[in-house]
Amino acid sequence: MILVLKENTTKKEVEELLKRLAWMNLQAVSTEENGRYTIAIVSGADEHTDFKQFAVLPHVENVLPFKQKFKLAGREIKKDRTVIHINHHSIGGGTLAVMAGPCSIESKEQIHQTAALVAAAGANILRGGAFKPRTSPYDFQGLGEKGLQFMQSAAKKNNMLSVSEVMDPNDIDLLSQYVDILQIGARNMQNFSLLKQAGKSNKPILLKRGLSATYMDFLMAAEYILQTGNLNVILCERGIRTFETFARNTLDIAAVPILHELSHLPIIVDPSHGTGMRNIVPPMACAAVAAGADGIMVEVHPEPDKSFSDAAQTISPESFKNMMISLRQIGKVVNIKVL
Ligand code: PEP
Ligand code: MN
Repeated sequence: MILVLKENTTKKEVEELLKRLAWMNLQAVSTEENGRYTIAIVSGADEHTDFKQFAVLPHVENVLPFKQKFKLAGREIKKDRTVIHINHHSIGGGTLAVMAGPCSIESKEQIHQTAALVAAAGANILRGGAFKPRTSPYDFQGLGEKGLQFMQSAAKKNNMLSVSEVMDPNDIDLLSQYVDILQIGARNMQNFSLLKQAGKSNKPILLKRGLSATYMDFLMAAEYILQTGNLNVILCERGIRTFETFARNTLDIAAVPILHELSHLPIIVDPSHGTGMRNIVPPMACAAVAAGADGIMVEVHPEPDKSFSDAAQTISPESFKNMMISLRQIGKVVNIKVL
């Protein structure tokens, strides 16, 4: 159920209304668009519930039923695209978010060197894994908290935001101390307790598409985060499993315009995990920007072949720099600013 509130309803009045709905045992989330509030009742009421009990509530102008299952990720509650503001950076507001860095944080020197190189080429968000979801338990698992400390100082030094993956609900508080954006990886896209806990951290969440997730699965996973009241979710297309096995994954570029049509959330593309092939990363980053992506996430290492993880898909700082030059040209055509 969607409650469209009267034009000059104040934030305080919205909060009072939310309390009243909670008292009625209804789960509700408020959104604001151009100074006008909407309350989405996400559970406790459905199409069989009597509309009239909501229509008589104070400040309610109109009551509408939800048509889509993805209530908060969809466009029924928000016509304009979401812009996520973090410090003086924004994601989804017409400037390409460029997330770059190594697959894994390997040492202080490695992350500082990478940060300086990618920042100079135009990246504004430093990526790096400290807790790695490795296919084999015998492979490098990440530096943990030490790695996060290295990344935090490297990001600060280069005026960048930072993003790192959280795999365990018990690590959310720890990661939140060090990074600006929490990443939920493809393998955990449907780890619902992790999604709910991460949502409650109030940090923006970068949610990667699961290896075999449909758009509906993806949006419903986002819904688990959104229903906590945390509306700062970034969707990331990172390739899916198909019958084609030449590349690591099949990067689904159509996900960008399709998800933009279905959802108000920003959508970024990770051509590194999406292809698994170093040479294919720059052209697919170009394709992502041409398709209207709000950002990209790319694995970069000062010495790609020496990467502890995902070496085959990791590009050099030189290649990253050239890729950014191409992205600036494409950005002009599709009307997105590339720093
Ligand atoms: C990563 O970004 O390092 C990663 C493991 O990505 P994904 O979850 O998409 O495989
Ligand atoms: Mn990786």
